[in-house]
Amino acid sequence: MAILDPTTTASDRPPPPPRDRCCAVREAATAELDAFEALDRAGVRAWQRDRLREQVAHARRHAPFYRHRLRALPPAAGEDPAQLPFTTKDDLRGGYPFGLLAVPLADVARYGESTGTTGAPTSSAITYQDWVRGNVSTARSLAHRFGPGDLVFVAIPYELSFAAYDLDRALETVGAAVVGTGILSAVCPVERTARMIAELRPAGIVCSPTRALRLHDLLRDAGHDPAALGVRTVLYVGETCSPAKLAKISRLWQAELVPAYGTTETNSLALSCALGRAHLTEDRHLFEVLDPDDATPLAAGRAGELVLSTLLAQAMPLLRYRTGDLVSVDPDPCPCGSVRATVRHHGRVGDRLHVAGRTLDRLDLEEAVLSVSGTGLYYAAGVVGEALHLRVECPDRPAHLVRREVADRVRARFGVTPEVGEVDRATVGRAMDAMLKPGNLTLADLDAAR
Ligand SMILES: [Zn+2]
Repeated sequence: MAILDPTTTASDRPPPPPRDRCCAVREAATAELDAFEALDRAGVRAWQRDRLREQVAHARRHAPFYRHRLRALPPAAGEDPAQLPFTTKDDLRGGYPFGLLAVPLADVARYGESTGTTGAPTSSAITYQDWVRGNVSTARSLAHRFGPGDLVFVAIPYELSFAAYDLDRALETVGAAVVGTGILSAVCPVERTARMIAELRPAGIVCSPTRALRLHDLLRDAGHDPAALGVRTVLYVGETCSPAKLAKISRLWQAELVPAYGTTETNSLALSCALGRAHLTEDRHLFEVLDPDDATPLAAGRAGELVLSTLLAQAMPLLRYRTGDLVSVDPDPCPCGSVRATVRHHGRVGDRLHVAGRTLDRLDLEEAVLSVSGTGLYYAAGVVGEALHLRVECPDRPAHLVRREVADRVRARFGVTPEVGEVDRATVGRAMDAMLKPGNLTLADLDAAR
């Protein structure tokens, strides 16, 4: 450690060399993470309350959006999230590009934007310290799966997002060799990624579950047995997936499927432990699960909308941000011993289907459809007029039997009688290749691909 001369002012001292500065930030972030992981649940709650108060003060002092939004809030407020107003996706759109920024631009290390597939884009920004804090957590999670000697494909979009770069750097940190293919780019379309998997035999692939299916199909069509290629782990991101679909993908690849979950605005929000369960990033965020319709708190374990407040964000603090994601948080601790709660993702609030006076979660519907014997790996759902329409693949059994069984299963589970049609794999493949987030195929996607 350098010995500081107390007579020297900060401006007189030369800044530390960049390499030392980067190492110091990483070491500090690692020490923070170790300290957090040593807490018990009561300690986590007290720690989060203190950080939230600091984060609220930082946001209202430095971010133009929160200075205005929190102007009526009492100065002492900030410990109790229920006293704070929500922040919505529309707020982020309205604040585009720098309305929520709480540091000078000179302190921003990375800037990103949402895909904009569902409206005007939103921006996100992080300082170098924000970036490293997240990256240290990601590396710790990936160390359960990968290490020196492992080749890992990162087959998610790199453009404008943080997730691919975060996973890329974390893989590097744990000693794995990274193949940054991205996805849907002119240089490396999905067909090339499939060919490279056959040649390079990676230990792992980072991709969405649906992309893992597509890569499987392309490899099989080219005469390979994907299960024999040595892929041990598929780290799936960017899309929710029912247990029935995960089990099918796992069987096809003979690989473990491990989740990571995040949003464009926040980067990772849940990372998997050694047992493959997704743990919330409670060392950087305070989470609430609320009824998506009236924003009231739900009992532990009930599925509702995930609402988060950042606790350590320097560049872009977010207070009670409504993610629009449906999750359930397990009230019981994970056998791995982590102090963090585990979470299950159930899809997007906006993707729920409203039919015949009922609300159907996409993931529950997927589970009901794909657990019928003889269904393939793909299905699409949509509401036409007042009716639920489904399209299923029927590769292994007579289509009329599968369709009837799917209709019976959905009627028994949801009290809704669907129209069930068949879809062929070639149409589904064309539709998915055109989609950035191919998880929720819709009837319109299939029609466009015919
Ligand atoms: Zn665990």
